[in-house]
Amino acid sequence: MFREAVFHRAMSPFVYKYDEKTIHIRLQTKKGDIDEAILIWGDPYDWHTEHPDDNDWNFDPTKSNYWNTRETPMARSGSDDLYDYWFIAVEPPYRRLRYGFKLSDGNETLVYTERGWFETKPLDDTGYYFCVPFLNKVDVFKAPDWVKDTVWYQIFPDRFANGDPANDPEGTLPWNSAPPTTTNLFGGDFQGVIDQVDYLVELGITGIYFCPIFEAKSNHKYDTIDYLEIDPQFGTKEKFKEMVDILHANGIRVMLDAVFNHAGFHHKAFVDVRENGDASVYRDWFHLRDFPLVTEPMPNYDTFAFVPEMPKFNTEHPEVKAYLLHVAKYWVEEFGIDGWRLDVANEVDHAFWREFRSVVKEANPEAYILGEIWHDAQDWLTGDQFDAVMNYPFTSAALNYFALDKTRAVSYANEMSHVLFSNTENVNEVTFNLIGSHDTPRALTRAGNNKNKMRLLLLSLLTFSGSPVIYYGDEIGLDGEQDPGCRKCMPWETELQDRSLFRYTQHLLLLRKEHRTLANLGLTSFVHADDETNTVVMKRVSHEGTYFVYFNNSNKEVTIPAPVDGHGMDLFSNTLRQTLEVTLPAFTGTIVQLMR
Ligand code: CA
Repeated sequence: MFREAVFHRAMSPFVYKYDEKTIHIRLQTKKGDIDEAILIWGDPYDWHTEHPDDNDWNFDPTKSNYWNTRETPMARSGSDDLYDYWFIAVEPPYRRLRYGFKLSDGNETLVYTERGWFETKPLDDTGYYFCVPFLNKVDVFKAPDWVKDTVWYQIFPDRFANGDPANDPEGTLPWNSAPPTTTNLFGGDFQGVIDQVDYLVELGITGIYFCPIFEAKSNHKYDTIDYLEIDPQFGTKEKFKEMVDILHANGIRVMLDAVFNHAGFHHKAFVDVRENGDASVYRDWFHLRDFPLVTEPMPNYDTFAFVPEMPKFNTEHPEVKAYLLHVAKYWVEEFGIDGWRLDVANEVDHAFWREFRSVVKEANPEAYILGEIWHDAQDWLTGDQFDAVMNYPFTSAALNYFALDKTRAVSYANEMSHVLFSNTENVNEVTFNLIGSHDTPRALTRAGNNKNKMRLLLLSLLTFSGSPVIYYGDEIGLDGEQDPGCRKCMPWETELQDRSLFRYTQHLLLLRKEHRTLANLGLTSFVHADDETNTVVMKRVSHEGTYFVYFNNSNKEVTIPAPVDGHGMDLFSNTLRQTLEVTLPAFTGTIVQLMR
C-alpha cells in the first residue's frame, strides 16, 4: 500500500457539512492502489462494555471500555491522472463525528487516522480519529437554492440590443455596421433587453449577468466613475428598474458586475487625489506610494496589473468600506437585483468580503455572490464570503478537449474529475461554468468555427454540475477573437442567426428543466473515457434517475460500449434504446436516461 499517497485532512473540501444532517467525507489515494476503502465512524461519546461489532447505537455511558464504531464502505467516485477519490455521505445521529479509514489493497488492510497508521482500529480512545466536533446548522455552506436551477446569459450591454436611439452617445455607429474595436459604440441599452425578453424566454435562460452598467468612460465600463449612477447610454435608473421588473416577471434573475478592486481613473475620489495629492481627503482611499502621482513609466500607486487608469482601492480603510458596502446594498435594496459578480475578487482582502457578504445577505438573503477567481478558490468558499466562483478550470478542460484538440478523452475526464474534487458538492452545484466571455475568444472561434464541436461544448456545459452561463450570441453562432473581437453586436435578423444551433441550445435548456438530475440534483462522474476513439461518457445520478451523456469527439462514427446493462430513453431522438451501447456520428453526442 502506498501509504504516503493516502491523504485526508479534517477540513474542507475533504470533510464538510453538506446540509443540516449530512457530512461529506473524501479521501485521496494513489490511482489504482486501493481496492476497498471503509469509513470507520461513530459518536465520540458512544462507549460499550463489550468489544462492539454490532453497530448498535444504544449504549450505556456508565460502563464504557470500548468506543463503538460503525463501518461503511466508501465509493470510488472519480479519478484523475494521479489519484483515486473516495466519497461517502454520513448522517451522524447526534451530529458529532469521529472517523478514520480502513483501507485494503489486496495484500494488506490498514487503518488510517489523524494520528497515523494502525494494524487494527484502536478503540480505547477516540482521540486517534479525525474529528467533526458538531454539525452546527449555521456552519453549513448555503448558497441560494435558486442558483442550482439557473442558466445564465451574459450580456455585454453596448452590444446586445439597441432599443432606444435617443440615448445613443455621440459617435454611436449603426448596429453591426463595423467590427468591434476597443473604443467604438453601438448604442446597446436596457430598452433593447426589454424588447428582446421574448427571445430570452424562448431560449430558456433564467438569469442575466450584466457586464458593468455604471457610469464610466470606456465602452466596457470597467473603469467606473460613479457606482451609484447608471451610465446614461444604457438608460435611466427608472428604465433599469423597469427592465429588472420585466425580467423578474419573466422568471429571469439579474446579476450585476461589481468592480470593487479598483476605481476608474475618473472616479471623483481618484480625481481629487490626482489634483490635490497629499492634501486630498481621499489620499487614504488608495495605495499611494509617492507624490505627485505619476503614470509613467510605471504608476507610483497600486493598480490592477500595471494599468494606471485602474487605481486599486484601499478596502481596509473605513470610509472606502462604508462607501463600497453602501453601493452593494443600494442596488440590491432599491432595484431588487439578485446577485453580484465580483471583478478581480481575489485581490481584495478577505475581511472586506466577509463584511460584504453580511451586508448583501442582510439586504436579500437570497442574493448570489459570485467571485472572479481563476485558481483554486477554497479560501473564499468556506461559507462566509462567496457562494461560488467563475469556474475557469472547467473552461480550460472543456476548451482543450472539444475546441482546441490539446487533450484526448482520458485527460478530459481526469481534468473534469479534478475540477469536481477541488470543491465541495455544495459549491459544485452553484459554481459558474463558462466556455467563453467578454474576456476570451468566442467558443465557436476557438473550435475553428466547427459548429459540431460547438454543440459538444454546449452539451458539456449544459449537463455538468453547476450554474452554466451562455455568453450572448453563442447560441446563434456568433464568433470573434480575443476582445474586442468577441464583443460583436448581436445580429437580430433571423437570416444572420444559426437557428439550428439556437434550437439545439434551447433543447438542452429544456432537458435541464425536465430532468433535474441533468441540472443539479445529483452527482457527476465519468464512466467511460477512451483515447483511441476519443469518446467519453459522463454519468449523472440522483434519487430521481440515472443519465449518461455521450460524447464522440472524433472525426468518424464510433460505437461506444454500454456503461451498464439495461435499456434507456434517448433524450435527443426520443426513442427507446434496447442497450446502452450507442453509435454516434463524428463530433456528436447524446443523452440517455437509464430505464433498466
Ligand atoms: Ca441606445
